[in-house]
Amino acid sequence: MRISESIRADVLAAVGLPDDLSGVASAQEQARRRDPAFREKVLLAYQYRCSVCGHDLRLGRQTIGLEAAHIKWFQAQGPDIVPNGIALCSLHHKVFDLGAFAILPGSYQMVFSQHLNGGDDAAGRMLAYHGASLILPQSREYLPQADFLEWHRKQVFKSPERPVC
Ligand SMILES: [Zn+2]
Repeated sequence: MRISESIRADVLAAVGLPDDLSGVASAQEQARRRDPAFREKVLLAYQYRCSVCGHDLRLGRQTIGLEAAHIKWFQAQGPDIVPNGIALCSLHHKVFDLGAFAILPGSYQMVFSQHLNGGDDAAGRMLAYHGASLILPQSREYLPQADFLEWHRKQVFKSPERPVC
């Protein structure tokens, strides 16, 4: 089973294995070159805040809990380019990689899965973004590319989606 990087780290931690073991998961993945600047480029494009909730906590210059997420996973040959990335806080990164919400190309509206449930506190806070637009990057050239969004919606998102009023 293929899993995203954010989830893989959790799985490894849960079974007591170190994170760096994930590096030996696939020789093919190892062979592909990663852009070490991907994270920084994506965070800059989104002005160092989560594109869902606006989370932008910092300690000095150090961001806390802010990540550059791949829309089309690196493991699925998603490239390390800004239009395949969005800045997300750790929670929204997990939720996105698990397929709890998708982003519609064109409107950049977030739609949540009918499978996402919970009490008022947890689910309510998450579902407050249902139908809302992503906080967009500072330049059009950084906008999420439609084919990557469609890949995520088809391959990762847990359909059916909740209706947007
Ligand atoms: Zn967030």
